[in-house]
Amino acid sequence: MRAESRKTSRRKFLKESSWGVAAASALAIAGSGQDQKAKAVPSGIGAIVLLGPPGAGKSVQGRRLSEQHSIPVISTGDLLRDHVKRATPLGLQVDPYMKAGKLVPDSLMTPILEDRLSQHDCERGFVLDGYPRTLAQAEGLDALLKKKGVASHVLLLDVPTERLLKLLAGRRVCPRCNRSYNIHFQPPKKEGVCDADGEALVQRPDDKEEVILRRLETYAKETQPVIDTYSRQGRMIRINGSQTPEQVAAEIEAKLAAP
Ligand code: AMP
Repeated sequence: MRAESRKTSRRKFLKESSWGVAAASALAIAGSGQDQKAKAVPSGIGAIVLLGPPGAGKSVQGRRLSEQHSIPVISTGDLLRDHVKRATPLGLQVDPYMKAGKLVPDSLMTPILEDRLSQHDCERGFVLDGYPRTLAQAEGLDALLKKKGVASHVLLLDVPTERLLKLLAGRRVCPRCNRSYNIHFQPPKKEGVCDADGEALVQRPDDKEEVILRRLETYAKETQPVIDTYSRQGRMIRINGSQTPEQVAAEIEAKLAAP
């Protein structure tokens, strides 16, 4: 979509959609003195929703956005991996889905996300990495943000499939701080070791080739409809994810700043 028509459709969406109405009424409430105490409208950037196929670089950009705007990044994949690592009841439930490259059911995901977003550090805004991944999650998220009067920016990191395969198979992560590297495109300073804390890097079990293919299939089947819906609503900001992380970050900031 050309820049001008994207702007027009974003304006149209704001005017027509329930979300636009919610944003407008949130502003109205904020302006009308007597209701101000009853419903505080958070100031700040709001919700930044990072979409893109597995391996597109969402976690690297999420971390940058978090630092740049002083807001937390919420990676549902990291939240789930933490539960698996600690072998909590939830961790034991979600482990088989993750190992198989399948999505964790919405009935488990929604309360995890709602609980995290209700925490104090999310008041000024937050970055969502890896959520929503299904239409039901997207609808639930919209309803939640509408209720809270929080604006959203939806970014899609676009990366062609053959590059994705190299990105996923070459990915190595630090089990201590979750920082991720790529042996082809973004190696650590010292081979096999995290730059930040010196921990030995590992390959995620779901980055093995057969699981990668399953995850890409799941993305096409479950998450592509979410992307199509946001696009139809004129809310999607497309980013060329095949650039260096610095160039991707610069494109994101430029597009977020555009009126
Ligand atoms: P990620 O690190 O974002 O690639 O997520 C790793 C795995 O966690 C996925 O393959 C899913 O099994 C699970 N997962 C993460 N986020 C979600 C979500 N929003 N909905 C369902 N499953 C998820």
